[in-house]
Amino acid sequence: MRAEVISIGDELTSGQRLDTNSQWLSLRLGELGVETAYHTTVADDLEANTRVFQAAVERADVVISSGGLGPTADDLTRDVLAATVGKPLVLDEAALAHVESLFARRGRPMPERNKVQAYFPEGSRVIPNPQGTAPGIDLDVPRAGRTPSRVFALPGVPAEMKEMWAATVGPAVQAMQPEPRVIRHRRIKCFGVGESDLEQMLPDLIRRGRVPSVGITVHEATITLRITAGGRDDAECRAAMEPTAATIYECLGELVFGEEDDELQDAVVRLLARSDLTLAVGEWGTVGLLTRWLNDVPDAASYFLGSTIITSAATARHAIGDESAVMNDDAVWSGTTSALAQALRERFHADLGLAVGGVSVDAPESTEPPRIALALAARDGVTVKTVPYTGHSAILKPRAAKQALNMLRLELLKDSPGR
Ligand code: AMP
Ligand code: MG
Repeated sequence: MRAEVISIGDELTSGQRLDTNSQWLSLRLGELGVETAYHTTVADDLEANTRVFQAAVERADVVISSGGLGPTADDLTRDVLAATVGKPLVLDEAALAHVESLFARRGRPMPERNKVQAYFPEGSRVIPNPQGTAPGIDLDVPRAGRTPSRVFALPGVPAEMKEMWAATVGPAVQAMQPEPRVIRHRRIKCFGVGESDLEQMLPDLIRRGRVPSVGITVHEATITLRITAGGRDDAECRAAMEPTAATIYECLGELVFGEEDDELQDAVVRLLARSDLTLAVGEWGTVGLLTRWLNDVPDAASYFLGSTIITSAATARHAIGDESAVMNDDAVWSGTTSALAQALRERFHADLGLAVGGVSVDAPESTEPPRIALALAARDGVTVKTVPYTGHSAILKPRAAKQALNMLRLELLKDSPGR
């Protein structure tokens, strides 16, 4: 069974308001095992709406719309649906009584315009809206040689739309399924290579049409593999995903750092806790990202002891306690960064010091791409490396911070393998 979600309103197509209803509805449909094939957003325009609904009922077995059910002249969904099935709008006395009672409760007479909200395409069913004046419409649209497409039109107000989904539309969609079915996802999080390299390491898992399916997305250099399976219930979906997850773990090894909402800092704090080690951080190029991320991990304070954030060569000199330190080429940047890692480790009496250096601003004639240094100080010495600092400016700092966390994670895994 395929669904289409339609969002209606000038405020959406003009960009003044974000369409959050489509996202919410698609998530709910997905939980019921119904795949949403299209999201359509359309302005308050009669002809455009008519075309959108005609196309939707052709290509989807269930259509959920939101918006356009208010009492004003720009609310057209009622007329569009009546035209779609070629039926007149007829008054529903119970719906009229409901709209009138809402006004009576507010101590106001019902404006004549609101009466249109009690009109429904002939043969449709009313979807009650206990809190609002716009009831929804549940309508079968006949299709030649096929089962009808079922349209559920809901008001745009998110709170009302959600309530009506939970009370009426969700259960109705579930009852349309030939057998009980749910869809579940499992997200496996990876870091350390680019997405195309990672895909090549997996034996044809990302292929379209594979069951269970595997999708790949990247956000600020973190790669998420999302396994999706359908089944009768949660347990059946989990069992169907397990062999695929096992293959991913086997192929990617230490590139996998966690699952679901895990971030690298969660993995790092977990490993610190497991080895009972403490960490101090020094940040220059990433100006506080590592500090904030580590601080966000629940109960991190027992392992993450503190940090120093610096923003210039002058404060870097203070931080490493060497007022005459020269900072102008790659080797020196690396030297400064390892000094920073050591200084922070000592200052905070930590087992480990992790530092991100400043960005090398080479002379304009330099053909070398910029790099950033990462250093990890432990009792037995410092490891330092530089990594490229190139790409879109939005990704530079988070990627460098993640590379630093990953350097630490891989080091911790050497002592104590396994996630
Ligand atoms: P309507 O039912 O079209 O009169 O919309 C009523 C209210 O709900 C307005 O404040 C809209 O901006 C809001 N709204 C309508 N559609 C959506 C949507 N798809 N996502 C989020 N808000 C919406
Ligand atoms: Mg509207």
